[in-house]
Amino acid sequence: MFPCFDQPDLKATMKLSVVNSSKWNQPISNQPVASTGLFNAVKHRKDSGLVSSSSKQLEAFAKIAGKNTILTTFQPTELLPTYVFAFGAGHLVMVGSVDGPVPISVYSLTSKKENLEIFSAYILDVTQKGMTFFQTIFGKAYPFKKYDQIFLRGLSVWAIENAAMVVYDDSLLKPSQTESDYYELADTLLHELSHHWFGNYVTIKWWDELWLKESFACFIASYAL
Ligand SMILES: [Zn+2]
Repeated sequence: MFPCFDQPDLKATMKLSVVNSSKWNQPISNQPVASTGLFNAVKHRKDSGLVSSSSKQLEAFAKIAGKNTILTTFQPTELLPTYVFAFGAGHLVMVGSVDGPVPISVYSLTSKKENLEIFSAYILDVTQKGMTFFQTIFGKAYPFKKYDQIFLRGLSVWAIENAAMVVYDDSLLKPSQTESDYYELADTLLHELSHHWFGNYVTIKWWDELWLKESFACFIASYAL
């Protein structure tokens, strides 16, 4: 990872490479994958110009992980505040997706796949309609290249609006989902989506303005519903 100033108005572009065992699934991040292939520590050190301590760590990792170690490089991010930078690696599986000008996908842990399968069509439908609605009323196209939504277990909050890679707590997907549970789910999906215009694209200067983007996201999600 990298040191940074966690200050919203200090935005930067970030370029991420992930090295992982081939037993894991394809990692996900804010941007689409630029390239993926077998990891070669020596070649990577040359290509990336990494300082020797980092390259030694990578070589040690490659030795432990064996020959089947994968290097994934992502496209550089848009200009982002660091608090919405993210990547996910491990046993994540894509459960559903829709193509279009902005590809939209939903992911879960492999072990929770069946639960998300029940809800994925609904989630994709609400997201697609929300994207069309927000683009129309804001007069600004969705400002990122794709939109991934990942459902995980045990988050400390319901959701986090990482740019183009939102994570949700899967307690939003209940086995016996009531009408009000569906409303709550749709409200949360639209809240996080709206942050891609208000928060991720246009960003607060400092944390004391957090209320502004949050109250606006609450309002506009209810309005969209
Ligand atoms: Zn929010």
